[in-house]
Amino acid sequence: MSAALNWFAEQAEALDRDDSHAEALVPELASRGLFRIGVPQALGGSGGDTYDAVEAIAAVAGQSLTAAFVFWGQRTFIEFLLQTPNEALRERLPPLLAGEHAGATGLSNAMKFLSGIESLQIAATPDGEGWRLNGRLPWVTNLRRAGFTVAAAVQTPDGGAAVVALDHDQPGLARSADLDLIALRGSNTAAISVADVAIDSSRLLHADARSFCPGVRPAFLGLQLGMSLGVARRALAQARQEGQGAHAVLLPQIEQTSAELEGIATSLREGLAAKRFQAEPAALFRLRIRLAELAQAAVGLELSASGGRAYLADQDKGFPRRWREAAFIPVVTPSLSQLQGELAKHANR
Ligand SMILES: Cc1cc2nc3c(=O)[nH]c(=O)nc-3n(C[C@H](O)[C@H](O)[C@H](O)COP(=O)(O)OP(=O)(O)OC[C@H]3O[C@@H](n4cnc5c(N)ncnc54)[C@H](O)[C@@H]3O)c2cc1C
Repeated sequence: MSAALNWFAEQAEALDRDDSHAEALVPELASRGLFRIGVPQALGGSGGDTYDAVEAIAAVAGQSLTAAFVFWGQRTFIEFLLQTPNEALRERLPPLLAGEHAGATGLSNAMKFLSGIESLQIAATPDGEGWRLNGRLPWVTNLRRAGFTVAAAVQTPDGGAAVVALDHDQPGLARSADLDLIALRGSNTAAISVADVAIDSSRLLHADARSFCPGVRPAFLGLQLGMSLGVARRALAQARQEGQGAHAVLLPQIEQTSAELEGIATSLREGLAAKRFQAEPAALFRLRIRLAELAQAAVGLELSASGGRAYLADQDKGFPRRWREAAFIPVVTPSLSQLQGELAKHANR
């Protein structure tokens, strides 16, 4: 592990169990330059490509999935600003890159809407030159109490879907208390209610969610895969360590899982570099599904290699936390069942 990530390793249990480090997380990630990775230097980043950011998220996920998920939320919001045609919104990049302000991604609803699973949960009605918004986002991570901007999809008065950026201090916008989660409790995850919030076109990330979401999806999903990669690599490393003795019978399986995992990482890197996933989303969906399965398999191998010791509290090496972390991976949007549904539709076409 890089020493730069020690803090995340040391706080991993607390980040999972309570909110004592919730406010520190974004500044800690930023102070290591992590949000700048894969962002063009001309825009304040450190250059590189999206896959470099995937690997950075994976490295953090190997220590703490809570930290990696917050990293994902912030970095994905930054990606929205990189890809929006709204130049004025791009000027908001500096405090996000510096971790002085939090960016949250409330686009599960939009992704499910585009898959035909859910209707849009925020509605816009005309209000002079702009709109009034009403609705609710039941799940959003990285709603830092010190201040946040959240990306949300709204149903427009003409029945279309737009993507907007809303600020924590806009009249009518309210953050709930943190949701009472079984894990990831330091992630600033809460609901947002939107009551008569007035906006104008300066807050439009894109006027058409049907064009914006598929465009940002390779980065949205690719960055998410960093979480699966990191959790799986870490569990396999633990399994290797634990499996040296009586459980050596597991070593071939551990190596096979590891080789498949790294093969998928290579496919992800190549697909992102070639910009293949815009035209072939199904290929990315398949990587997401297989990686989630491998993350589950990896924690299973860690459990098998540890045996009964995995159940001894005084020998806790993070296994129970990784077990919960791996359980989260199939649930986060787009969920595995959602993607399997998409692939079935794709096959029928
Ligand atoms: C800790 C945590 C943090 C989160 N943070 C965020 C965040 O920052 N931003 C955000 O936008 N969301 C966030 N979410 C929301 C999350 O990603 C999912 O949108 C949400 O959990 C799925 O909604 P649900 O469980 O109510 O699924 P439901 O809609 O109740 O569906 C249940 C399951 O079935 C699947 N499903 C439903 N209908 C279909 C169908 N027709 N075909 C195939 N599958 C289907 C769903 O995908 C889901 O897996 C977070 C969730 C958690 C647990």
